[in-house]
Amino acid sequence: MDFSLDEEQVMFQSMFRDFAQEEIAPLAPETDENERVPDGLLEAAAEQELLGAPLPEEYDGAELDWVSTSLLMEELGKACLSTATVVAIHSGLAAQTILEAGSDDQRKAYLPDMAAGELIGAFALTEPEAGSDPSAIQATAARDGDEYVLNGIKTWVANASIAAAFIIFAQAPGGITAFVVPSAAPGLEVGYRELTMGLRGVAIHALHLKDCRVPASNQLGDEGQGLSIAGRALDRYRLLLAAAALGAAEAALQEGKQFASERKQFGAPIATKQAIGNYFADSVVEIETLRHLVHHTAWKLDQGTAEPWELAAAKLHAGRVARAVANRMVQVHGGYGFSNEYPISRIYRDVRALEIMGGTSQMQQVVLAQSLFGGL
Ligand SMILES: Cc1cc2nc3c(=O)[nH]c(=O)nc-3n(C[C@H](O)[C@H](O)[C@H](O)COP(=O)(O)OP(=O)(O)OC[C@H]3O[C@@H](n4cnc5c(N)ncnc54)[C@H](O)[C@@H]3O)c2cc1C
Repeated sequence: MDFSLDEEQVMFQSMFRDFAQEEIAPLAPETDENERVPDGLLEAAAEQELLGAPLPEEYDGAELDWVSTSLLMEELGKACLSTATVVAIHSGLAAQTILEAGSDDQRKAYLPDMAAGELIGAFALTEPEAGSDPSAIQATAARDGDEYVLNGIKTWVANASIAAAFIIFAQAPGGITAFVVPSAAPGLEVGYRELTMGLRGVAIHALHLKDCRVPASNQLGDEGQGLSIAGRALDRYRLLLAAAALGAAEAALQEGKQFASERKQFGAPIATKQAIGNYFADSVVEIETLRHLVHHTAWKLDQGTAEPWELAAAKLHAGRVARAVANRMVQVHGGYGFSNEYPISRIYRDVRALEIMGGTSQMQQVVLAQSLFGGL
């Protein structure tokens, strides 16, 4: 059993770390404050081939394995969880859906531009009455000759205002179906923006479909395959979020470590107080456990043997670890942890989303329990 990264993975890791720490981390406060990823950042990421990381070279992707892609997400999550989320939705949800469910023509039409960052993707599944239960979606796709006519409202669509292509799920005559819809399609309107507790750099909007016409050739897979297409995409997205959560937990630990080393009370750095040390000890154990889980799950995905419950387990654990570590590190900061002056308060707000997006923690538990008792 060899737990080490190979030479190429080590090289990628160092490249991702350098880029994330030099280009992304310094902009994280601005991304949060201005509620958008700063101009030029995604273009710079695309130049480093980070926006098409897991896409095949055939579509101008970097064709990274899932272990390397996880290393990328960890470094992005460490630098700025908003930016990591934008990238995960774009390349992990939207592009991967086209890769897996799209025809050769659809792949050629979208993926090279997505890898180049010239076309940002979004994924529109959630609706006002359909969150954890996507089978309840009410958006419709009626067939009209060579076109489909889409109607309905999508909510919580991350990347909506920067996306040029949306993966949209709607009820077609044959059941829930996936479509790739350009932002310029007539009848597609980006609606109100969610004002969020954290991940403020992610543009999350409602999407209105009012007699939105798309050619039938924009359908992904067959009618009725939408939920299985979404399920497979969300499985992989869970690994990416788990890796980003690992990075965010590490960033929180680093912030706490620096503060605890510098802040003096009772005549000594608070790091010397045993109660504070315990916070760090518990956090390190959780982070290292999560690291192994993320790497092992990514490795299993590379082997083609990762089961959905394993991806659910990684995401469930990751959300808990990131929240627990960020929460302890806010406490380490005392009153300063509650101040927006310190990065830990942003990290704390950001990581809270990890237990909701990509399927809530409870839904990961449902997947896990069903894998044990599904036959009953
Ligand atoms: C930051 C962020 C980004 C997002 N980005 C996107 C995106 O790009 N595209 C997209 O389509 N959606 C996106 N979402 C939406 C996200 O997928 C949903 O919020 C999530 O699936 C939960 O749905 P809901 O909010 O409707 O909650 P609900 O489904 O209403 O759940 C409410 C509560 O009930 C619990 N619950 C529900 N059913 C069960 C059950 N059977 N057993 C136990 N507990 C249950 C849930 O766990 C939760 O605690 C995003 C959400 C966030 C916060």
